[in-house]
Amino acid sequence: MAKRKRILITGAAGFLGSHLCDRFISEDFHVIAMDNLITGDLRNIEHLFKLENFEFYNHDVSTFVYVAGELDYILHFASPASPIDYLKIPIQTLKVGSLGTHNLLGLARNKNARMLIASTSEIYGDPSVNPQPEEYWGNVNTVGPRGVYDEAKRFQESITMAYHTFHGLETRIVRIFNTYGPRMRLNDGRVLPAFIGQAIRGEDLTVFGDGSQTRSFCYVSDLIEGIYRLLFSDYAQPMNIGNPSEITIKEFGEEIIKLTGTSQKMVYKELPMDDPKQRRPDITKARAILGWEPKVSREEGLKITYEYFKSLPQDVLEKVEHKDFTTYNK
Ligand code: UDP
Repeated sequence: MAKRKRILITGAAGFLGSHLCDRFISEDFHVIAMDNLITGDLRNIEHLFKLENFEFYNHDVSTFVYVAGELDYILHFASPASPIDYLKIPIQTLKVGSLGTHNLLGLARNKNARMLIASTSEIYGDPSVNPQPEEYWGNVNTVGPRGVYDEAKRFQESITMAYHTFHGLETRIVRIFNTYGPRMRLNDGRVLPAFIGQAIRGEDLTVFGDGSQTRSFCYVSDLIEGIYRLLFSDYAQPMNIGNPSEITIKEFGEEIIKLTGTSQKMVYKELPMDDPKQRRPDITKARAILGWEPKVSREEGLKITYEYFKSLPQDVLEKVEHKDFTTYNK
């Protein structure tokens, strides 16, 4: 029998990390999961604890990371990833993208492992071209409220590429666009859990600004497939993975109202500072190099996600207060 490949996944108890754990377990990998649980939730991976090819460490990768034994792959997915989170914990956000990435690159080098880092469409900032191809350099306010995340991720890409060119380390960089699905946190402030949570609780849907800003939402299983293919490709340059189907936030609110059948309406609030006006991935490269494109329509993905949120225990649904973004900008 071939030896099981060993993979370290950081941010394993988070939304994307937990889906990656599931995918690599199903491919018969030995999964070493790591998370410091600041924004992650063990409920996302508790079904894996009984498996002999799964282990979990409660550890902050911004400090020295040690893993015993061989490692074939590292996926670095640890990071606060919603505007509310990185406004509340800006220093941790900067540290996990910079120091955490440096520690893990050192570990990858030491173990001769291939490392894939989770970058983001946020490195494009408030983009002046639409859709965004990988060649676009971005438009980021370094000292704005999103700067801690955007710049940590930009540094993360730079240091990863430096390890690739200087040390010959095998690296992959995925730029993730807005993704949704089961296991998103109901209270992370992101638009989808915010709208669905509000509809379920019988509250009005809070649209920031006039709702004309656009996003392009990718269902989680499509994203995971893209990441999986990128990891096993030989492509070391950054690659966009996302769904190019673009929609305004106002139209998105209308879709949620229709889906949930809520009798509530949309109410308009102040637009947070530096909120990108448009965002849509150019996925020409992913199509050509990985033979990948999204398969799940927004209608289908939203239905599954709504069922997931509805199935959460009542106390979880009720406890959520929708936080007003504008107070974080003061
Ligand atoms: N948004 C909104 N109402 C909310 C939460 C977010 O209108 O309750 C808007 C937000 O201003 C942004 C878009 O929805 O324009 C997507 O926000 P999210 O935080 O989900 O992601 P990001 O801005 O990082 O793409």
